[in-house]
Amino acid sequence: MPATLPRKLHLPTGRVVDLERTGDPPGHVPTLRGSVHALAGQVVRLRNEAGELVDPESLALEDFHVLRSILTHAGLLAEQSVEVPCDNCNEVRALRPCELVEPGPFIDGELGDPELDERFPFDKEHEIGEAQLGKLKVKLRPVTVAEARPLHEAIDGGRLRVTSALVRAMGIESLDGETLAPRIARRLQRIDDSSWDSLTDLLDAAYYGPRLRPWWRCQECGARNELEAPSLREFPALALPRDDQPIAGFPDVDAFESAVRKHADALFAQLGVRNVALTVELGVAECDDGGVPLLGSYDPGEQEGSGMPSASPEVRLYYRTFRSMYADEPYDVEREIAETIEHELRHHLAFLSGWDPEDEREHEEISREQGRRVGQSESLRRATRAAGSDVSEFLRRTWPLWLLVAAVTIAVILASR
Ligand SMILES: [Zn+2]
Ligand SMILES: [Zn+2]
Repeated sequence: MPATLPRKLHLPTGRVVDLERTGDPPGHVPTLRGSVHALAGQVVRLRNEAGELVDPESLALEDFHVLRSILTHAGLLAEQSVEVPCDNCNEVRALRPCELVEPGPFIDGELGDPELDERFPFDKEHEIGEAQLGKLKVKLRPVTVAEARPLHEAIDGGRLRVTSALVRAMGIESLDGETLAPRIARRLQRIDDSSWDSLTDLLDAAYYGPRLRPWWRCQECGARNELEAPSLREFPALALPRDDQPIAGFPDVDAFESAVRKHADALFAQLGVRNVALTVELGVAECDDGGVPLLGSYDPGEQEGSGMPSASPEVRLYYRTFRSMYADEPYDVEREIAETIEHELRHHLAFLSGWDPEDEREHEEISREQGRRVGQSESLRRATRAAGSDVSEFLRRTWPLWLLVAAVTIAVILASR
């Protein structure tokens, strides 16, 4: 069931608009310019807080993209589904990205998160391209829907030619100190592919905030992944499945296992731990309750006499998580191995003592992160709804995490009174 259309929305630039339904949704997936028409009275009309009509052409691009995401989320604009692989296990899912966008913070005006709501620094120069090909310095400026029109028409038409009109529409203020659009256009026509890719990534980051990269949960392994919403963007990123190719500089399985053994011997002795099994898992990594693939995990096992078959406590290290983290950004693998083993052994010692504050802290952190995305008011609404309806039904329909999120949110609110 599609969500209902919110009456009022807070937008990333601080603008607040009222939404008024005026017509039926078009029966097809709208283009970028088609979405402008949808906001200009074809499907909804926008008004400012004084009740005056807002021309969608005057919107900042960031605000426009949020509006079309929320309209799509509410079922008033259609969206193509996209097939995306899970970062952790490569299982492919077909998803409609805007269905996953959390509208709560836009509806409730809770857009103060230091990371999720950070504005793009338009006043700064940004480096693009690869070091060996020569880096380029780019400065962008905020662009309105009207200004971006040549770009949107080119994309809707399926033909992108870098002209000075396009340079202006892309919001490129300067390229390596050059500020004249025709000259910037000529340079861009000769730019190498990787510099072009990093330029379009920069534009994407400038005009789509982090809240338009919602999470989805893999049904296969439980991992939480991000994807881009809406699926129609000026410069969409390609979703690449992670492969199992060796990564330069990262230890192979044998070298990894012997590093694990070396550090384990030292750490077990140092912490006085015995009788804990240690394994390196080479398959798909388990995830924490928040869906983040784990580097390591601790399982206390089953004690004799508990009624279950006894099993010794176990610490597990996940080779693939170490590897994909290295592929994202190289780090000191030996040190991370040692820290992970020590971290899990401390969970073991805490378990033996009967209280694991670190485990509680980790769970709170997961709920807090979730709450920042969903929004505080929306977390409360969901908790209230859950309490009012049958709880087991609620648990079946949504993630068990919601209860935890709500509990933490309520605790935070009570503490701040
Ligand atoms: Zn998965
Ligand atoms: Zn831990």
